[in-house]
Amino acid sequence: MLTAAFPGSFDPPTLGHLNIVERAARIFDELLVVVAENRQKKYLFSAEERVAIVSSLVEPWKNVSVTLCDSLIVDFIKERNIRLLLRGVRGGGDFSYEFELSMMNKALDSSIETIFMTTDPEYFVLRSSAIKELASFHGDISAMVPPLVAKALEDKYR
Ligand code: ADP
Repeated sequence: MLTAAFPGSFDPPTLGHLNIVERAARIFDELLVVVAENRQKKYLFSAEERVAIVSSLVEPWKNVSVTLCDSLIVDFIKERNIRLLLRGVRGGGDFSYEFELSMMNKALDSSIETIFMTTDPEYFVLRSSAIKELASFHGDISAMVPPLVAKALEDKYR
């Protein structure tokens, strides 16, 4: 069984995140989307909201599940016997950040492997932070996020 964990803030999830999920679900037997709750970070959506939104979005994939993690990701996945971390990369900027992160995780546990999946071209400009900013000015985000997320953002910024 090949199982990977796809960790992230998902604040909120975008079509870019879902594209990674869709493609990864075809490669791995099981994919665990890990919604990270980091006390140092400020989120627009609470951990419970993010888990609920992501859970409803991944419903079509029977081999994808969602969980919340408020501890160190490396420890979290090891406890679940998962050794593969999946991360999406949109370009050079993402890659240098992701590369350092993977080195840090490797230093914490050498048995953890990070796998990078490049974004599909139509999603490479999609970034949760930029989408939130756009939504806060009531800009049109309908081509960037699923309708459920567009509605949730609309409610937040009403
Ligand atoms: P984090 O705060 O951990 O970066 P994000 O929710 O921003 O969490 O991202 C989670 C993962 O999804 C990261 O690996 C990020 O690079 C990837 N990702 C985000 N947006 C896209 C996109 N449009 N295309 C491909 N990967 C993406």
